[in-house]
Amino acid sequence: MGEGKILKALSGFYFVAHGDDVIRWKPRGVFRHEGATPLVGDDVRYLADGGDGVITEILPRRNSLHRPPVANIDQLVLVIAAVTPVADPFLVDKMVCFAEFHHIEPVICLNKADLGTNEKLTDRYAAAGYPVCIVSAETGEGMDRLHALLRGKVSAFAGNSGVGKSSLINRLCPELSLRTGEVSEKLGRGRHTTRHVELFALQGGGLMADTPGFSFFDPDSLDLPEPQELWRCFREFLPFGADCRYADCSHTTEPGCGILRALREGQISGERHQSYCRMYEEAKKLSPWERRQLAKQRAR
Ligand code: GDP
Ligand code: ZN
Repeated sequence: MGEGKILKALSGFYFVAHGDDVIRWKPRGVFRHEGATPLVGDDVRYLADGGDGVITEILPRRNSLHRPPVANIDQLVLVIAAVTPVADPFLVDKMVCFAEFHHIEPVICLNKADLGTNEKLTDRYAAAGYPVCIVSAETGEGMDRLHALLRGKVSAFAGNSGVGKSSLINRLCPELSLRTGEVSEKLGRGRHTTRHVELFALQGGGLMADTPGFSFFDPDSLDLPEPQELWRCFREFLPFGADCRYADCSHTTEPGCGILRALREGQISGERHQSYCRMYEEAKKLSPWERRQLAKQRAR
């Protein structure tokens, strides 16, 4: 009997680590027939006898994602390049909002610091209250801070192709380098190649999802909150959203809005609020029916 975390799924088997033990389990009975699908990242109770074991219980999840399929992620490291490829702040805001919605801490990681800076962007997130780190996978600059942010947490990386995610992972976990290359070569970079997830132990402590899917958070298919809940995913708006004149304030144009007041007083950034308004309009366009369809597609 033990408790551990599912680190990988391969050929129908799940591998669970507990201390130095690794047990191997093939779902049968209740798990196969009642559709209780375990995910990588799940914390489970198991009975073990030698190398093969039986998972008896999946402990409650803090969150779960479909693409990549992984549970209990603590942090999403959003990698942005200092120079190229050019970051789109609206998409970064969307990813940050997505992370907040799923109770995942977003970490803004500006890479390629050897080539330049993007203070406008890093200041924007630091001011909003998000952890920011500035690194170079090339020179190793700033990596101590990234190591410290990852310690003791389960993290996944996200970001456009070319921002340096593979390079950062190779720095964080040098023994993985060959493997990362192999995986991306074998599976290519398509959207539909994201079924395999594995959690790796980092040298400094902590686990990291290494998957060809880690970069494929498609901003158009992200699970985002309903319009009236959206403002709660903008961390710096939180102290002001309760002060509005109208209980159903959308925080976009209404008189007596606490968030608009904070905006006028310079306590929140105009660009962040513009992103909010744009996301609010997008969210409003989705009917409840479309929302359900999207959720179904994602679950498939
Ligand atoms: P991924 O697509 O996000 O996994 O990005 P890669 O790790 O494959 O990196 C894309 C390109 O950027 C490669 O040519 C890397 O050598 C380069 N690169 C990655 N990190 C850095 C960095 O910190 N500085 C510089 N100058 N180049 C980098
Ligand atoms: Zn308001």
